[in-house]
Amino acid sequence: MYSKILVLRFSSEVAQKPVVYHLTRDFDLVFNILNAAILPGKEGVMVLELSGSRKNFRDGVKFLKNSGIKVQNASREVKRVAARCTHCGACTAVCPTGALSIKRPEMEVVFDQEKCSICELCVPACPPRAMEVRPIRDAFLESTTAREAVGLSVRP
Ligand code: SF4
Ligand code: SF4
Repeated sequence: MYSKILVLRFSSEVAQKPVVYHLTRDFDLVFNILNAAILPGKEGVMVLELSGSRKNFRDGVKFLKNSGIKVQNASREVKRVAARCTHCGACTAVCPTGALSIKRPEMEVVFDQEKCSICELCVPACPPRAMEVRPIRDAFLESTTAREAVGLSVRP
């Protein structure tokens, strides 16, 4: 069994179609949606774990791409370097999933990595560059499981 975590980016038109359902019906693939969000500008992002035979996996990914979906390996994670954060709040305005939010009354910006969809919008929005994209390999050294490592919320 071949399995990988993928990030899918798609337009609002594609979001109307049952594209992911076809992965099961036409390619005998098993999928587990780990996170999904609609970004400003109506682009959708979905993080899913896809499993099946290598050939079906390849064919399924080809089908996704032919359907107008951008497919990336979820080989990166977004981390906050706490020492650099000034709690200015700029990142909370662009974060589409609520992973970055302001805790009141302390007015402290908190980062809930489980809600992060790895869209990377916060990276250029942060003046002191406190939000960083890192290879997942580094994350494995710090976390106990692959899912924790990529900072995804996992459905039970
Ligand atoms: S934009 Fe950067 S410095 Fe400002 S609250 Fe967010 S992470 Fe902290
Ligand atoms: S990458 Fe940044 S903006 Fe995007 S969901 Fe994660 S914390 Fe929010």
